[in-house]
Amino acid sequence: MYKIKNDSVIKMLSERKEIFWENTYKEIYKGIDISREEIFEAENRIQRFALFLNKSFPELLQSSGLISSPIKGISKIKKNRNLPGKIFLKMDNMLPISGSIKARGGFYEVLKHGEELAIRNNLLNTNDDYSKLINLKSFFNKYSISVGSTGNLGLSIGLMGAKLGFKVNVHMSEDAKSWKKEMLRNQGVTVFEYKSDYSFAVESARELSKKDPNDYFIDDENSKDLFLGYSIAGSEIKKQLAELKISVNDEHPLFVFLPCGVGGGPGGITFGLKEIFKDNVHCFFGEPVESPSFFLGLYTQLHEKISVEDIGLTNKTIADGLAVGRPSGFVGKTLNTVIDGCYTCEDNYLTKLLKEFYYEENIFLEPSAVTGIKGVEIIQKSGYFEKNNINPENVTYIIWGTGGNLVPESIKKEYLNY
Ligand SMILES: *Cc1c(COP(=O)(O)O)cnc(C)c1O
Repeated sequence: MYKIKNDSVIKMLSERKEIFWENTYKEIYKGIDISREEIFEAENRIQRFALFLNKSFPELLQSSGLISSPIKGISKIKKNRNLPGKIFLKMDNMLPISGSIKARGGFYEVLKHGEELAIRNNLLNTNDDYSKLINLKSFFNKYSISVGSTGNLGLSIGLMGAKLGFKVNVHMSEDAKSWKKEMLRNQGVTVFEYKSDYSFAVESARELSKKDPNDYFIDDENSKDLFLGYSIAGSEIKKQLAELKISVNDEHPLFVFLPCGVGGGPGGITFGLKEIFKDNVHCFFGEPVESPSFFLGLYTQLHEKISVEDIGLTNKTIADGLAVGRPSGFVGKTLNTVIDGCYTCEDNYLTKLLKEFYYEENIFLEPSAVTGIKGVEIIQKSGYFEKNNINPENVTYIIWGTGGNLVPESIKKEYLNY
């Protein structure tokens, strides 16, 4: 048990309070161990797959095979809640095929693995028209991919992996929703179900994968490729803000609020944004009061060596995508001096916000996806603006809406009646 006696932040976390903490380990941004060239490489790789994606998924015809999401003003919520500055929702809930932020990291790592296998077996080179991959299903079917997930990562990897022809094994934690499992089984994906949490599902996937030389394990707790897939979002935001004629500079900073589970998604996006906007972008990770794993790991500097259970929390939350008790050590250590802060959010706030988004803005987001508004509210009272000499009215806020489009109608109704 971590010594909670004399530490006021740990005490508040263990009492399930909604709190904001400015990362005291933060330094002026001077890059991380991963280079910007690696983000460009990832972007180029996704670009190479555009023709394959375009021909494989009818919904990608419009976007010419590109996986990206719109950004949208949320004026009603801003007005009703009396929020300052310019506020936008980044709609990763609308990402094609899998309807969540996991499309970014998950698709990227599956495609990269497929590309490497095909090149190694002389079936592809990088100048080819990648739509030829459509005819390589029987080749890919000799190989499998495994992953542990609370739902959405499994969905992204399963749907993309199966499309290429891979056998896919998705190990689902008890939080995973049955409709996600069903959708995967309908695509021929093997779904393992556990009556345990996310960390256990990942561990089990890792162990089983080791026994099969033809299996590739996608490690949500440690994957640089997932991280790079997410980081591409940085240049997407840059382009979208430029189109809106919004500049980001010393006087007009950008604040981004990211729902956080294990840390890979928000971490990769933070990296992509910091490489572009440096210290003029401030990135904050939001978590449910019962699952503040990333917050706890960063705050104690113990990263993956501490879990929310260690301070008496249950890791039970309606925000299934954020139900992670132990954070990624890789992300925590890589971004230790980069992340600007962490905060927590109560479940009943999430269900309330979910309804506001639906009834006021006509946007359906899953519970995990709405923590951002809490961030905008909680930071106003935190002293962060005064301390950093920022006028809250000059800030552009981006709330990362991380999922929702695939949620079936009947389940949407359940959430809306919560
Ligand atoms: C997975 C997920 C997140 C958080 O991403 P991590 O990489 O686990 O930190 C946020 N929102 C939704 C909807 C998710 O599925």
